[in-house]
Amino acid sequence: MAKKHVYYFGAGKAEGNKEMKDILGGKGANLAEMAGLGLPVPPGFTVSTEVCTLFNKNKQRIPEVVKREIERNLGRLEKTVGQGFGDPRNPLLVSVRSGARASMPGMMDTILNLGLNEKTAEALVAKTGNDRFVYDSYRRFVQMYGDVVLGLKPVHKDDLDPFEVIIERKKRELGIHSDTDLTAADLRDLVARFKAAIKEKTGHEFPADPMKQLWGAIGAVFCSWMNDRAVAYRKLYNIPETWGTAVNVQTMVFGNMGLDSGTGVAFTRDAATGENTFYGEYLMNAQGEDVVAGIRTPLPIADLRQDDPKAYAELEKIRHILEKHFRDMMDIEFTIQQGRLYMLQCRVGKRTAFAAIKIAVDMVDEKLISEREALARIEPDQLNQLLRPVFDYAEKEAAVKAGRLLAKGLNAGPGAASGRIVFNSVDAEAWAKQGKQVILTRIETSPEDIKGMSVAEGILTARGGMTSHAALVARQMGKVCVAGCGELAIDYAQRRITVKGKTLNEGDWISIDGTTGQVIEGKVNTKPSEVLQVLVEKTLDPAKAFVYQTFAKVMAWADRFRTLKIRTNADQPDQSRNAVAFGAEGIGLCRTEHMFFGEGKIGPMREMILADTLDERKAALAKLLPLQRHDFAGIFEVMDGRPVTIRTIDPPLHEFLPHEEKDQRALAAQMGIPFEKVRERVEALHEFNPMLGFRGCRLGIIYPEITEMQARAIFEAAAETKKKGIEVEPEVMIPLVGHVKELANQEKIVRRTAEAVMKKQGVRFKYLVGTMIEIPRGAITADEIATVAEFFSFGTNDLTQTTLGVSRDDAGRFLIPYVEKEIYAKDPFEVIDREGVGQLMRMAVEKGRATRPGIKLGICGEHGGEPSSVEFCHLIGLNYVSCSPFRVPIARLAAARAALLNAAKPAAKKAVKKRPPARKAAKARKKARRR
Ligand code: PEP
Ligand code: MG
Repeated sequence: MAKKHVYYFGAGKAEGNKEMKDILGGKGANLAEMAGLGLPVPPGFTVSTEVCTLFNKNKQRIPEVVKREIERNLGRLEKTVGQGFGDPRNPLLVSVRSGARASMPGMMDTILNLGLNEKTAEALVAKTGNDRFVYDSYRRFVQMYGDVVLGLKPVHKDDLDPFEVIIERKKRELGIHSDTDLTAADLRDLVARFKAAIKEKTGHEFPADPMKQLWGAIGAVFCSWMNDRAVAYRKLYNIPETWGTAVNVQTMVFGNMGLDSGTGVAFTRDAATGENTFYGEYLMNAQGEDVVAGIRTPLPIADLRQDDPKAYAELEKIRHILEKHFRDMMDIEFTIQQGRLYMLQCRVGKRTAFAAIKIAVDMVDEKLISEREALARIEPDQLNQLLRPVFDYAEKEAAVKAGRLLAKGLNAGPGAASGRIVFNSVDAEAWAKQGKQVILTRIETSPEDIKGMSVAEGILTARGGMTSHAALVARQMGKVCVAGCGELAIDYAQRRITVKGKTLNEGDWISIDGTTGQVIEGKVNTKPSEVLQVLVEKTLDPAKAFVYQTFAKVMAWADRFRTLKIRTNADQPDQSRNAVAFGAEGIGLCRTEHMFFGEGKIGPMREMILADTLDERKAALAKLLPLQRHDFAGIFEVMDGRPVTIRTIDPPLHEFLPHEEKDQRALAAQMGIPFEKVRERVEALHEFNPMLGFRGCRLGIIYPEITEMQARAIFEAAAETKKKGIEVEPEVMIPLVGHVKELANQEKIVRRTAEAVMKKQGVRFKYLVGTMIEIPRGAITADEIATVAEFFSFGTNDLTQTTLGVSRDDAGRFLIPYVEKEIYAKDPFEVIDREGVGQLMRMAVEKGRATRPGIKLGICGEHGGEPSSVEFCHLIGLNYVSCSPFRVPIARLAAARAALLNAAKPAAKKAVKKRPPARKAAKARKKARRR
C-alpha cells in the first residue's frame, strides 16, 4: 500500500487522532481528535509533517504523489460540505495553516479565505447578500497571500508594511480615519491596488486559479518551517529541524458575518489561578485576528451567555467533553458563524505555575487523572510559587513595560523582594531596626555579612555564581537572592549603583525576583506565601488555607513514591525547624563555621586564630567549646532523633578576620594586643588561592586541637540530649579529603573523643564518621577512603569547582556567556554536569560500595535541591539528597518524579551488583585499620 501523506477529518470521522502529533502536528492531531469525538469541527485535511521534510529536500516542490492525494482529499471535502473549490456559484473557501509537533506560536505562516477570486467573490456576495464582508475577506486574503506567498514585505525591519501603506493612502484620499468606514467598493478597489502593487514590486501575477493559490499556500507554509523566526525559536526550545510542520487545509468559517457571528479563545479552567471556571474572551462580528490584535476589547466569555445562549451552552458542554477526554486543561479557539458554533483548535493550555499545581490536584480529586500523573505534571520548581513571596503579577508586568527592568542576574534564591538599597551589613541591621525593608546590595558577600543578610528582604550581588557565598547562604536562610548581576556597577564609596545609564542611591527602592533573576527599579508589592504562614510562622489555620492544602496533598503523594531520603543543610535551630516543617528527614550538612558568626562567638574564634602558641589556642578553644555544644544541643533537640551530619571547620581562617583597618584596630583594642599584630596575622594568612589552600581537613590535621574541640562539643551535646530522653544520631563529617590518610588522621581524633565523652557522661549513642567527596582525588580513590569512611557526602560545589577548574566565586562573569554559547547546557554549579562531575560521582559510588556495601551515600552540594540533579542522584543510587530548607519540598517532589520516571531502571541495584565478594571487602577494611 502506498504511503499515506494526507489525513481527512470532518462530519464525525477522522483518519488521525491525538496520538499522531508526530505526523499531523499538534493542531492537526487535535482537530482530528475533536472531529472523531463528533464535535463541530469545520471539515478539512492535514498534510503530514513528513511532506515538509520531503518538500524542503526536494528543491521546495510538493511531490506529485502527494499532490494527487491532496486533490483526492479536496474532492472529498467538496462532497462533505456541498461546495466546489473555485465553483463560481457555490464556492468553497479554505484556510491553510501550519502546525508542528510542538506549539510554535506565531513563528510560521497562515493564509485565510483561500479560493477567492473575482468570480467566487461575486458568488459569495450573491449567497450572503453582504458585499462588504466579502470584499473585506478578499482584501485580507490578497494581503496575506501577497505577503506570505508572493513576498511583498517591508524591505527593512523598520519599514511600514506595504499593504498598510496602500490602505492608509486610500483612507487619506477618502478623508476617513477608521478601517470600518471603508465601503465594499473601497475594499474592492484596495484588492485591485494590492494586486497591482504585487505585480509591480515582485513581478508575480496574483493567481486567480484556486488550485494555483492552494499549491502556493501549502508550499509557503512548508517554507516557513525554515524562516529565521522559526529557526531561532527551535534553537531556543530545542526543537529538532527534522520534525517539520504539517499543513492543515480546512473549510473557512466566518465570525464576521454579522451580529449573529463571532469568535473567541478560551481555557477550560482559569489559566492564572487554576480555578475550575470557564475562562476566556470573545468578540461578536469579528475574525480571530481582531481578538488577538487588540483593536477592539474582547468581552469575558461569561457575557456570551446573554449574547448567544445556544452557543454558550454548547461551548460549556464541549468544555466538559474535552476535559474528560484529554484529561487536562485545554485551550480552545471557536467561531460562531450565523448562530452555528465551530471548534477551530484545541490544545493543552499553558498555565501559571500556581495553576499547574492546582489543576493537577483538582483533577485527581475529580478522578480525571491519577496521583502519579499529577506528580508528572508539576515541575518541582513550580512549588516555589507556593513557598515564597511572589510579586503582584500585574504590578510587575507594568514595571517591566514601563522600562524599569534594570538588569538580569542569576536566579540564586527564588521569591520576590522589594526594599531600600543598602550597601553593607551594618547599615542593613541599623535600617531594619528602624523598621525599614532593605535589599543588601554587595559586590559579593562574605561570612561577615551574615547578620545583614538575615535582616534583609533580599540580597543582590554583582559578582559570584550559583554556589557563591551569597547564593548558598541566602538559600539556607530562605532569602530572595539575585547573584552575579555583572551589569551593576556598585560604588561603595559613593553609595550608589549605576546601570544602563541610570543611577540608584542608597535608600532608593529596588525590587528583585530571585526566580527569574530580574532586577527592577522601584517598589513592586509582594504577596506572602500561605504555606509559610501555616508551616513555619504558624499564623494561619491550615483548615482555612486552601493553597496549603493543595501543597500538602502534593507532598503526601510525592512521599509515597520517592525512594531517596531528603535531608537539609542547616546550621541553626530555626533553620532546622523550618526544614523539618517542610519534611526534612535529617541534616545532611551543618557547616560549623557559620556558627562562629553568631552572637559572642566571633571574638574567641579570632583569638584562636591569632594565638601564637598551643596553650593560647587551647584557651581560646575552651571558650568556644560551650558555645558550640550549646548550638549542637539546640539542633539535636529540634531534629529529635533524626540523623545530623556535622562537618568540622572548612573555610580558610582568614575568612574569620576583619579586613578593613578600622575593624582590625577595633579587634586589637578588644583583645588588648597591638594593631600591628592583628594586621601581620591577617597578612600572613593571606592566600593566593584560598579555595585550594589551608582549608578543610588540612586545618584539623595541622591544628588537631580544633577537631578535638569540635568533636567534644558534638558528643557532649549528644550526651546531654540523650540524657533528656531525646534520641540522637550524630554523623561527623571531615571536609576536603583527597587521601585516605587525611581521613584516618581525623577519624582517630573523633573516635578517641567520642569514647572519652561517652565514658565520662555514662551514656552511649550511635555515631558515624565519614567524609565529603569534593575533590577529584577523593572520588578516584573512594574505594580506599571507604575503608575508613562510614558515609560519603558529595560536596558538588567544590567537586564542580575542582573538576572543571572553575572558581565558584568568580564564575559569574563568564558562565552566563558560556551557557549562552552552549559550551555548557546549564550552569554546572546549578545543575550537575553529568558527563564530567557526574562520572566522578558514579565512580565514587561504585568504589565506595565495593569496599563497604552498606556505606551511606548522600549529596550536600547545592545541586541537592535542583530537580535534574536530584534525578541524577536517584539514578546513581544515592541514599539521600540534602538541600537548603526551602528546597526540601522541591527535592521531595523531584525525588518522586525521578522514581516514577525511572521505575524501570533501579539504579541502586545496578551498583549493588558490582560489589565484590564480602570476603574481599572485609580484607580491605582490615588493611585500612592497619594504616
Ligand atoms: C560543597 O563543596 O559542595 C559543600 C557542600 O561544601 P561548601 O559549599 O561548604 O564548600
Ligand atoms: Mg565544599
